[in-house]
Amino acid sequence: MDTEDHKALREAVTALGKRHGPGSDPIQLWSEAGKLGYLGVNLPEEYGGGGGGISELSIVLEELGAAGCPLLMLVVSPAICGTVIARFGTDAQKQQWLPGLADGTRLMAFGITEPDAGSNSHRITTTARKDGTDWLLTGRKVFISGVDIADATLIVGRTEDARTGRLKPCLFIVPRDTPGFARRPIDMELNAAEKQFELTLDDVRLPADALVGDEDAGLLQLFAGLNPERIMTAAFAIGMGRHALAKAIEYARDRTVWNTPIGAHQAIAHPLAQAHIDLELARLMMQKAAHLYDTGDDMGAGEAANMAKYAAGEACVKAVDQAVHTLGGNGLTREYGLARLITAARVARIAPVSREMILNYVSHQTLGLPKSY
Ligand SMILES: Cc1cc2nc3c(=O)[nH]c(=O)nc-3n(C[C@H](O)[C@H](O)[C@H](O)COP(=O)(O)OP(=O)(O)OC[C@H]3O[C@@H](n4cnc5c(N)ncnc54)[C@H](O)[C@@H]3O)c2cc1C
Repeated sequence: MDTEDHKALREAVTALGKRHGPGSDPIQLWSEAGKLGYLGVNLPEEYGGGGGGISELSIVLEELGAAGCPLLMLVVSPAICGTVIARFGTDAQKQQWLPGLADGTRLMAFGITEPDAGSNSHRITTTARKDGTDWLLTGRKVFISGVDIADATLIVGRTEDARTGRLKPCLFIVPRDTPGFARRPIDMELNAAEKQFELTLDDVRLPADALVGDEDAGLLQLFAGLNPERIMTAAFAIGMGRHALAKAIEYARDRTVWNTPIGAHQAIAHPLAQAHIDLELARLMMQKAAHLYDTGDDMGAGEAANMAKYAAGEACVKAVDQAVHTLGGNGLTREYGLARLITAARVARIAPVSREMILNYVSHQTLGLPKSY
């Protein structure tokens, strides 16, 4: 449940979201949110952040989404990259990146997905080899968001001596214009400000200090970033679901084609009520996951973050579907802005970890059932 501070943050971000709203310029919104301190609420105070956690950052994303102007890069820049650098970076890396990530003047993308590995991150082949004290990074990534607007991308690779078997990941900060680091935009059917890219890394030469944390710390370090990513994707989905639902409710209260508004028909009202309940339940699980994460329970947070992402993704897809339906033909017009959410909502079902991979996780980790793969 929200504390008094959380309520105040929610209200302040809602006001910012209302000033911007659907179709507004995301760069302006990013910059204003940064100046107001909302982008770095989770980052340490000594580096210009708000000293809070993912609980606070998820409120920022949820409320901007509910206002119809979600900032997808919040999932990546402060939540994944900011967290990993704050927890595992060297002092120099923290000095170099955290103040900018906190006030929004610098942005970092995150690349783990590879064309031949997909959901199976253990199969990633982006490889780092030592050349003197430098690293040479080679590989391919796909669907990486915001690389064009990010100052650098945090790339997940593996070292040459750990090329096969269970993933022992290592994380490298790759500045946007490093020679050998190329990007190609993917033609997505998504109406979003942030583009997705296919990346090629061809012997990208990086200094020793491009490596974040320890090359042997492996999965622990990676999951320090991936749990916040799941919690933030839940916030993204809940915000979008709330936005769609609010539009549908407003329409259903007014639109009259018999002698009462359509919202009086239970065939319209009940699915909207169900969508509301599902979104509220997903938010409770998201808050649990964020609380566990912020209090240092990485294992507990992992399970809850997966379940929250699943619940929020499903609740969002259903809320958007029902909202579109509630508006009849208007649900498919550009003017009402709901049809484009049909594809946008699906992102929360597939990324950063798909619905099925979460069901697999719960089957194996929580229920102790055997694996099929
Ligand atoms: C808009 C968008 C933005 C993204 N941004 C980023 C980003 O910034 N950085 C980044 O690294 N990645 C990003 N991604 C990638 C995203 O994380 C992947 O798309 C996702 O992890 C799924 O991988 P895949 O697309 O290769 O699907 P696949 O792994 O090929 O899966 C295809 C289907 O098969 C199912 N499946 C696979 N294995 C199993 C199994 N064992 N059991 C049951 N079903 C299974 C999946 O659930 C899915 O439905 C983004 C994706 C999108 C769409």
